[in-house]
Parts: sequence; C-alpha cells; structure tokens
Amino acid sequence: MLHTRFTELFGVRHPITQGGMQWVGRAELVAAVANAGCLGFLTALTQPSPEALVAEIARTRELTDQPFGVNLTILPSINPPPYDEYRAAIIESGVGVVETAGYNPAEHMPQLHAAGVRVLHKATAVRHARKAQSVGVDAVSIDGFECAGHPGEDDIGGLVLIPAAADALQIPIIASGGFGDGRGLVAALALGADGINMGTRFLATAESPIHPAIKQKIVEQDERATQLIFRSMRNTARVARNSVSEQVVSIEGSGGGFDDVRDLVSGARGRTVYEQGDPELGIWSIGVVQGLIRDIPTVDTLVRRIVDQAEQIIEHRLGSSMLAASA
Ligand code: NAD
Repeated sequence: MLHTRFTELFGVRHPITQGGMQWVGRAELVAAVANAGCLGFLTALTQPSPEALVAEIARTRELTDQPFGVNLTILPSINPPPYDEYRAAIIESGVGVVETAGYNPAEHMPQLHAAGVRVLHKATAVRHARKAQSVGVDAVSIDGFECAGHPGEDDIGGLVLIPAAADALQIPIIASGGFGDGRGLVAALALGADGINMGTRFLATAESPIHPAIKQKIVEQDERATQLIFRSMRNTARVARNSVSEQVVSIEGSGGGFDDVRDLVSGARGRTVYEQGDPELGIWSIGVVQGLIRDIPTVDTLVRRIVDQAEQIIEHRLGSSMLAASA
C-alpha cells in the first residue's frame, strides 16, 4: 500500500485519480475506479442538465459504496452551461469531492466549502496552482504538457512542472499528464507529488463507456499520434491526430478563427467517435501516454498492476540495493 497525503486527505486506498473526461466520466467507469480503491470523477457537463447529473450521481451510488467526485470544467464553450446550477446539483447530491478545471475556481469555493465539499483543482501552470491554493482549494492536480485535452499555453512537461509545483505549494499535489503505469507513479512521487491522475489510461479499460474500436485504436497508436489544435486561439487542446484535427490545424494556419472550425470541433460531433467507433468522425482527446498502452484490462486489474509495479520498483530497484551498488 502506498500511503500519501492524498490517500489520507481523500480517504482512498491508492494515490490515483481518474480526472474529468468529457463523454467518458460516467457511472460505470467512476464506480469501477472507486471500487478499485482510487478516486474517480463523473464529468458534470457530460450530463445534458443538472437534473441528469443528479440521476447519474445516484446511478454511481448504486454501483459503489466508495467515495467518488464530480468534475466541473469551465472552458470556452459553444453553448456555455449553467455552471452554478451544476454546482448546486453536486452539493445537493452530497458528493464529497469536486475537481475544478479550466478556470480560477474562486467563485465556487464559498458554496463548496460551506457544504463540506473538498476541492481538487486542476492547473496547467505553477502560477495558477499557487492562485488556487490562495483561494483555499484542498489539493492541486498539476497537468503537464503531455496531457490529453487542454494543457495551457506554456508547454512545460511534467518533469519540470511537477517539482516546480511541489516547491511552490504546501497542499497535496496530484501529478497529471503522461501517467499510465507504476513507473510513472513512482516518478511522480519522486518529483514531489502525492499521487497521479490518469485519463487516457482509464479510457482503454473494460469499463470505459466508449466503443471497443476506439479502445483498440488507442492500443495501436503510438506516442506521436496526437495533435495540438486551437493554438492560435490560446485554447490549446491535445487531441487524437486524424483527418479532422489536420483540417483544423490547416484552417488555423491559413488565418481561420473559431467560426471557421466550429462545426469540425464541436463536442457533439466528437462524441460520435466514442459512440460509433470511427476515429475519423470528429475531434477526440488523447494524451501522449497512449504510446505506453498495450492492452484493455479491467480497471481493477490495471490499478493492481500499477500499484504492484510501483511497490516493486520502490523496494527492489530504488531500495538499498541501488545505494549499495553505488557505494
Ligand atoms: P464545445 O462543443 O462547446 O467546444 C468544443 C471545443 O471547442 C472545446 O475544446 C472548447 O473549449 C472549444 N471552444 C468552444 N468555443 C470556443 C471559442 N469561442 N474559442 C476557442 N475555443 C472554443 O465543448 P464540448 O467538447 O461539447 O464540451 C462540453 C462542455 O464540457 C464545454 O463546456 C467544455 O468546456 C467542457 N469540457 C469538459 C471537459 C472535461 O474533461 N471535464 C473536457 C473538455 C470540455
């Protein structure tokens, strides 16, 4: 068992989270993650309304009696959702943890903390992480350039971003972006983090609610098969490289703005990739860690494997034998 400030604070067995994944963070996956001893997050905005989120939280509770959370992401959106109503639905449902992302969580903190909800804020820069700590979040997930989705605009990989955040913060830190196995978990702990967040790795599991053909595609693709879109709009997103992402980058390169790519990038279109199993149908998020994904295990098998591998590395590779070898 790996005991950290994170497992202590959030009351979970393993220092692993399954953070927000639009269209994927649903009851089946989150409950499987919770039952495996990790902290999973439903994505609030995957649900079409706050009422539907309440129902999804109830459905998750039917599948697990372990703690889980809800992700609330605030990013530029084609149809901006009623964030306050989603936040109220989370509080009314008695969920104990919220993962905020995309924007300064300050305006949500008073209500969340008044309701006893712990806040894990996902940040892509040390200055944003420091700001989140100053507005009272309980822990920070620091998301390196390797990540799927929105990595920010600074392009700093985890090898520097994680220890820089650890130096700057007093609260627990989850390392995010590029993690998928026990080697990554040990590295994150060595860099000063209290655990890891995984999205892409959980996408390719038996319980992940996406089409099997997309899981297989993740297994087949290597670490080079991602592309950065929205660079010109300072809303960079790392997505699976496909004909649609190539077209978006080409339009951006010829001076096009968001209106010129709106129909190509819409989340509603991207969702059909997961539903129909055709990776060319739209934009879908994926991290570079897909280069390390070679199978589609159950969540429980995956978590056991990661924790076992981490323990083996700590005990046998990094333990006293290495010190003795260099003496
Ligand atoms: P969407 O269809 O509104 O937008 C698709 C993409 O275009 C997103 O990456 C969005 O940030 C970007 N975008 C939208 N308007 C933009 C603008 N004016 N300028 C630049 N970029 C713009 O979003 P969606 O994919 O259907 O997602 C639905 C909701 O979920 C949105 O509010 C989105 O912010 C949020 N989301 C959540 C997660 C998560 O993991 N929790 C991930 C991605 C998006």
